Amino acid sequence: MQVTRELFNSVMVPNYNPSEVIPVRGQGSRVWDQNDKEYIDFAGGIAVNCLGHCHPALVDALKEQGDKIWHLSNVMTNEPALRLAKKITDATFADKVYFANSGAEANEAALKLARRFALDVHDTDKSQIIAFNKSFHGRTFFTVTVGGQAAYSDGFGPKPAAIDHCDYNDLAAFEALISDKTCAVMMEPLQGEGGIISASNDFIKGVRALCDKHNALLIFDEVQTGVGRTGSLYAYQELGVTPDILTTAKALGGGFPIAAMITTTNIAAHLKVGTHGSTYGGNPLACAVAEAAFDTVNTEQVLSGVKQREQLFRDGFAAINAKYDVFSEVRGKGLLLGAVLNSKFEGRARDFLVASTKHGLMSLVAGTNVIRFTPSLVIPIEDIKEGLTRFEKAVADVING
Ligand SMILES: *Cc1c(COP(=O)(O)O)cnc(C)c1O
Repeated sequence: MQVTRELFNSVMVPNYNPSEVIPVRGQGSRVWDQNDKEYIDFAGGIAVNCLGHCHPALVDALKEQGDKIWHLSNVMTNEPALRLAKKITDATFADKVYFANSGAEANEAALKLARRFALDVHDTDKSQIIAFNKSFHGRTFFTVTVGGQAAYSDGFGPKPAAIDHCDYNDLAAFEALISDKTCAVMMEPLQGEGGIISASNDFIKGVRALCDKHNALLIFDEVQTGVGRTGSLYAYQELGVTPDILTTAKALGGGFPIAAMITTTNIAAHLKVGTHGSTYGGNPLACAVAEAAFDTVNTEQVLSGVKQREQLFRDGFAAINAKYDVFSEVRGKGLLLGAVLNSKFEGRARDFLVASTKHGLMSLVAGTNVIRFTPSLVIPIEDIKEGLTRFEKAVADVING
């Protein structure tokens, strides 16, 4: 069968508009398309392929588990799931893990748990969920309504209720909104989709303090920031603030779909038998791959390597900017970076992405004004250099029209 981009239009629901390029294989941070054109991958499958493509440790884990057992359902537990849960709890504040298959599902579980906890422990009136403008928490109806872009949740009929928003990094607005009726606050410690925006130290500490004051649970959505992305295993670990519930997905499986919601024993106790579940959650194949990814990422070598690589990217962007004057700033942390276009190029992030693809570089955008980079955490240094060279050519193309 001839597989072309046109086939997408004829057989797929039109909710995406993918690139003309159809990649067929990848190795490390290089990818090849149907015509054998090579790309350097600065996108990493949107912060998912934390160890690049076909990392040997992940391929081995997949093949090994593939010959053992693929699926059981939650009628029975399995070894990979329990090993992974033990490793996650050993490495974080959490004591308990719930496995899901996507970031949205992990967030859905976190929000349901928070509502149940408030009903069990406090009173029926404590149901308000607060989240932040521009935040992204997934596409189920509950999580997309909690997300801070109404455009994504509009047009589907009545929305889940008791959800309020205020601006990120605006502690006064948050303080005005939170009360004893607040059951939970969901936030990204560094907003990804919203434009690569870090929480200020005062803000994140203030949010924690106000949650404590009003007995509201603090949920960190680390779906994008987690598993080494910012240079620590989880972003909260370098921020001096510990959440009550944390969600992790994207990089957790290094390219295999898996997610987790993690929390303390006390809070977890409220998801009693039968209250929530998932057919695939804790699937042995997914957990085996995720265990290999987790073991590989959670090392001093990989985590400090993220910080070294961040510097190379920042130096590269600064050199390009000195020559072409396109960015107002470079935001983010670790290998979750956003080059923000200055006023001359306002709203044109997509043009840079398209030009990059032409020059053999995969990149991302975050909104219309930020070019986003979320490469493999172990991207080879020479691939960073080559990718930046290609990016510079793309920048030159956009400038020269
Ligand atoms: C990607 C993302 C999600 C949604 O994850 P899915 O796996 O697409 O459901 C949720 N929260 C954040 C912060 C994300 O970046």
